[in-house]
Amino acid sequence: MPVGLAVAYKSPSQRTRIISEAWGRRSLYCARCDSPALEPSRVNAKLVDFVCPRCAAAFQLKSQSHRFSRRITDVAYHVMRRAIEESRAPHLLALQYDPLTWCVRNLILIPSFALTLSCLERRKPLALTARRSGWVGCNILLFNIPVDARIEVVSDGSPSRPATVRRQFSLLKPLEKVGYERRGWTLDVLNIVRSLHKPEFSLGDVYRRSEELQLLHPKNLHVRDKIRQQLQRLKDMGLVAFAGGGRYLLKS
Ligand SMILES: [Zn+2]
Repeated sequence: MPVGLAVAYKSPSQRTRIISEAWGRRSLYCARCDSPALEPSRVNAKLVDFVCPRCAAAFQLKSQSHRFSRRITDVAYHVMRRAIEESRAPHLLALQYDPLTWCVRNLILIPSFALTLSCLERRKPLALTARRSGWVGCNILLFNIPVDARIEVVSDGSPSRPATVRRQFSLLKPLEKVGYERRGWTLDVLNIVRSLHKPEFSLGDVYRRSEELQLLHPKNLHVRDKIRQQLQRLKDMGLVAFAGGGRYLLKS
């Protein structure tokens, strides 16, 4: 990463922003189309940092020096919630760098259509003593996003091939045109199926996790019907195959 650019900045968060944005201008590419570069965004800077010059896909870059574990701290809760509801959320790039060498260690891409209300958490309002007292931020809950939608662009310092990143992105792209509530169900069922860690599973395996789905969708009283419907959708997307007799095969 181009560390020299930040010598004039004292605040660690400003340094991280300047350095990671400069790195992004030089190194990021679009996963949605074949554009080899992304351009810095000047519009809606709160939510969007980069835009694809070819397909206009919007990206947000979040950088930090420690590993992304279960949550990514993001913008104001109401801003992200509305963006998800109106299908305006950007694709999220979560970058982890080594603070000693300023090398990119990990970069995960979460396509915007994998962001649903199931993975959005409202944080506590900032304390009265804080400069922005009462401000409510949000967390993106990584454990509620299926592994399929956590695309590794850089893993332990090694970049993935752009073709691999684009192929993984395109597997989920059919969800792009689906409303957030419907794709929320699809992704939640996919997350459960992946978390079984079995190449072959039964309808009963997924039914046994109905309670988790009920918690994520408290208003829906027909969870089992939804599970069957979503398995059909996952089959249409090529992520699952029917093996007959209530058995399913998970495609990698
Ligand atoms: Zn593009």
